[in-house]
Amino acid sequence: MRYLSTRGGASGRGFSDILLEGLASDGGLFLPELYPQVDAAMLGRWRGLSYAELAFELMSLYVDDLPAYELRAIVEKTYTAEVFGDARITPLRRLEPGVFVLGLSNGPTLAFKDVAMQFLGHAFEYELKRRGCALNVLGATSGDTGSAAEHALKGKRGIQVFMLSPLGRMSEFQQAQMFSLQDANIHNIAVEGVFDDCQDLVKGVCADRAFKERHSIGTVNSINWARLLAQIVYYFAGYFQATAASGEAVDFAVPTGNFGNICAGHIARQMGLPIRRLVLATNENDVLDEFFRTGTYRARSAAETQETSSPSMDISKASNFERFVFDALGRDARRTRELFAEVEARRVFSLTEPERARVAAFGFASGRSTGADRLATIRDVHRRFGEVIDPHTADALKVGREHAEAATPMIILETALPAKFNATVREAIGRDAPRPARFAGIESMPRRFTTLPPDLQRLKAFIAENGER
Ligand SMILES: *Cc1c(COP(=O)(O)O)cnc(C)c1O
Repeated sequence: MRYLSTRGGASGRGFSDILLEGLASDGGLFLPELYPQVDAAMLGRWRGLSYAELAFELMSLYVDDLPAYELRAIVEKTYTAEVFGDARITPLRRLEPGVFVLGLSNGPTLAFKDVAMQFLGHAFEYELKRRGCALNVLGATSGDTGSAAEHALKGKRGIQVFMLSPLGRMSEFQQAQMFSLQDANIHNIAVEGVFDDCQDLVKGVCADRAFKERHSIGTVNSINWARLLAQIVYYFAGYFQATAASGEAVDFAVPTGNFGNICAGHIARQMGLPIRRLVLATNENDVLDEFFRTGTYRARSAAETQETSSPSMDISKASNFERFVFDALGRDARRTRELFAEVEARRVFSLTEPERARVAAFGFASGRSTGADRLATIRDVHRRFGEVIDPHTADALKVGREHAEAATPMIILETALPAKFNATVREAIGRDAPRPARFAGIESMPRRFTTLPPDLQRLKAFIAENGER
């Protein structure tokens, strides 16, 4: 399998070439040249596989430049009951007639990002060893991404992690999850500023090409192809658990921020998995709901981006969205380049009528959920089923229910456990979310972090001193 860029400037790359890269050199995103097709016979064979076996079979279709036994070893190390707390890795449960919840959040940091990040950690370690090189991973986080990355990369050979977060602005729980790590290769940097300052610092380091090269700076953000690949697997795993026979169709409802999770669903559907509808749920930051309703994509400024109680969906523009646009426009790289140049210049593009018709053929539905909807949904689920769900999952359930049809199972993706967002849970139901035993007392564990001002030179000096060489 070869990979190309959505803007046409790169092609013919192998999986291991793009594994450690973010954006393609032309500013586009990598995609496979084609989507391998699965038919009913293949689905029938895959239905009985364990999660790790399924991951191996599916990923093998996209990875042909690692020895098969190495890929198998990586997925077997990644997808274990010890790490994900359940032999099914992503267990499905029934919530109400026709509505199911796919549990993606039983990994080390209680959010779905673990499913892909744990794979990335093992894949990075393998590839760096094979090449005989080292990597300094630099990132900015306001919550889930940073802790998932740290828990996936801690103790990995040849990797140092520098994770910037705004000092005192994460939830207590999220901060404790990161700062309690004692591994020598994890560097938590609390920046005296807001999240945008952290992001600007990362951009500043990456803009210095010479520094970036000399210190082998890499990232693990959501545009990485390997993360997307790992996420395709659970759409299949969820499908098999919700259906009795291959051929039956299902719907998925996905709480969406950067369009990474739902993009994996789009690819599963393009491969031939019988998905009728992909239901995209946003919170008040409804850039993507607006696009699917109107054909206009209007990225927001930082000032227009609201802070909500489903904070992992508070985005101003959706970094993975270009992949879908490229596919929807018949993989026209020239037009994709043109549209995203408009976003860069004026923050907005509008599709033509024929283009909107093409998008409509891809089976998306969308909707928006507000702070009040989240509280009402969490309360309703607790009252009727005695279960507690997190605010992001509540957004998906609210919008998913609006699009559910009796004959088709609706699978809601659970992207975090409620313990991570306890303040909102308390507001909704007046009591604490259940907390997995291994997190008891996490807030009072010793913390390891460095405080820095938002100063690019100070950050560079810190990386030069502590990084891999
Ligand atoms: C990251 C995240 C999302 C959004 O996922 P995207 O892939 O960015 O669309 C939703 N919910 C939770 C809990 C997350 O951590």
